[in-house]
Amino acid sequence: MDKENVIKLVTDIVGPENIKTDEPMKNHTSFKVGGNADIMVLPENDIQIAKIVEVCEREGIPFFIMGNGTNIIVRDKGIRGVVIKTCGRLERYVVNDCVIEAESGILLSKLAEIALEHGLTGLEFASGIPGSLGGAVVMNAGAYDGAMKDVVIRTEYISRDGLTRILKGDEHRFGYRTSFIQEEGGIVLRSWIKLQKGNKEDIKALMDDLNERRKSKQPLEMPSAGSVFKRPPGCFTGRLIENCGLKGYRIGGAEVSTKHCGFIVNAGGATANDVISLIRYIQDRIKSEYGIELQTEVKIVGED
Ligand SMILES: Cc1cc2nc3c(=O)[nH]c(=O)nc-3n(C[C@H](O)[C@H](O)[C@H](O)COP(=O)(O)OP(=O)(O)OC[C@H]3O[C@@H](n4cnc5c(N)ncnc54)[C@H](O)[C@@H]3O)c2cc1C
Repeated sequence: MDKENVIKLVTDIVGPENIKTDEPMKNHTSFKVGGNADIMVLPENDIQIAKIVEVCEREGIPFFIMGNGTNIIVRDKGIRGVVIKTCGRLERYVVNDCVIEAESGILLSKLAEIALEHGLTGLEFASGIPGSLGGAVVMNAGAYDGAMKDVVIRTEYISRDGLTRILKGDEHRFGYRTSFIQEEGGIVLRSWIKLQKGNKEDIKALMDDLNERRKSKQPLEMPSAGSVFKRPPGCFTGRLIENCGLKGYRIGGAEVSTKHCGFIVNAGGATANDVISLIRYIQDRIKSEYGIELQTEVKIVGED
């Protein structure tokens, strides 16, 4: 990859103000770990995203799409090629009766506030999830008995063949922390969220209650990527980890949270390698003690 040439190609699409080079990914992830991205691009609209994807495909440049970086661990050698970041730019939305149409970079917390402002109920569960709409659709993010599968009715995305396509209803193939786009690849451009008319005071009270519960149970004051592992059927991952005596267990700066054992936190100066080593250690211990293979919910990306 001729880096200077790639910079020129993407600069022609988004302008120099929307490009960062050798950008530390620790500044763009909630875990605050990870090496540099060769080139980070902050597109301002769908057309720019489509053009960047087209150029990358044509020139054989690897690319990675991210939202708010709250469910990824970027390895210490960073990410080669182009990182396309949606958060901070692609945040436009329209409210039409009970449906909110929004671009993929908008934060879920902002969407929940918009729903509240319009007296729409159904998105309260998402108000404390720190990701973007695009990341949440891909992950089928959820909490407190709610999930994106309950509210997303339509998504516009760029498919792997570079075409802009639409998914409707069941075509999203939402499952536990997965979706059609996660399985098949593609870039979420925008989604339509269908809610119900509700009472603003009730909506606000529920959001406050859920956020209080989150604050009391989760180590929100420390860098993390939320729950590291998927929940195995019939078990609470945090409890399994705690029962293995791993509460507070550390490798380098990575620590099993003492507040919630399902979280790994960056207790100060952690590297991605510390975090990944701790993940592998936990997986080995749980496998040998319970015979359960813990799968990660977080996505580990970048160069080994
Ligand atoms: C403190 C804390 C609490 C959390 N609580 C919860 C919770 O209660 N429930 C829950 O489900 N999650 C939770 N999470 C995890 C995380 O917030 C969600 O998974 C969220 O949906 C990720 O969104 P993001 O924009 O940060 O995605 P990123 O981390 O940027 O990306 C995650 C994945 O989505 C892909 N992606 C992102 N945007 C797009 C796009 N536009 N098109 C295609 N692919 C895309 C990325 O390539 C990557 O594979 C928590 C995280 C933290 C730090």
